[in-house]
Amino acid sequence: MIRVAIANQKGGVGKTTTAINIATAMAAAGWKTLLVDLDPQGNASTGVGIAPAAREYSSYDLLVDQADMADCILRTSVPGLDVIPATVDLSGAEVELVGVDARAERLRKAMQNDADYDICFIDCPPSLGLLTLNALTAADTLMIPLQCEFFALEGLSQLLQTVEQVKQRFNPELGIVGVVLTMFDRRNRLTDQVSEDVREVLGSLVFESVIPRNVRLSEAPSHGLPALVYDHACAGSRSYMALARELISRLPPEERKAA
Ligand code: ADP
Ligand code: MG
Repeated sequence: MIRVAIANQKGGVGKTTTAINIATAMAAAGWKTLLVDLDPQGNASTGVGIAPAAREYSSYDLLVDQADMADCILRTSVPGLDVIPATVDLSGAEVELVGVDARAERLRKAMQNDADYDICFIDCPPSLGLLTLNALTAADTLMIPLQCEFFALEGLSQLLQTVEQVKQRFNPELGIVGVVLTMFDRRNRLTDQVSEDVREVLGSLVFESVIPRNVRLSEAPSHGLPALVYDHACAGSRSYMALARELISRLPPEERKAA
């Protein structure tokens, strides 16, 4: 079981879209996959078809009440993909946990018994607050979506600094599996330039696979479906399948189950 946090404190860079679709791609490749929604907006939950009324237990219960993980897990319509949804309650969690001991380690503790899964993705909110801190403390590795726009790298050093702090204080083994470039538009020369610059700075940390700007990826959530289910042949879906293959190739050999 390997846990991958998907984080970037910038909003709108493609974290949730990446979480939903890479989780679906891994499930399609035969990996038992768990998606943990750690954003109070709950977009990842909605995007895999979990209506708010169905979210009886959620990541809030895991964090705040240390609920049994099994009680918080819901099946999705995608075979092999389960989810721990998020509700708006989660927006109060940071405040409710003030003064609680080891509050950055709540998620890790709650997720100790997750042997049923091969891989877990944690969709983080757009901040470096306590929720993201919990995700980074619970994770084995981090995937960072970067939007192909002029200020793509802005904020990255702050994120990397947070990673260093988490390693020192809570989770020495935390790795970075890669940076994924999102919303790439090949008709726009600026995004080409951005992608070149990012690769020059970050080198092999950047995944070869690039996620194109693709309207199917943005339409799919309104149908409560991952793009890979909504339109498995669209360019966006194909790019997430390629990213999943590349992710598998970057995992430690003992985690790389036959798929
Ligand atoms: P984050 O979780 O980082 O805030 P989202 O994944 O929610 O970002 O994406 C922000 C918006 O951009 C959403 O409306 C989403 O549907 C859209 N979007 C994300 N990735 C793409 C893409 N590759 N092509 C087109 N639209 C995208
Ligand atoms: Mg999001």
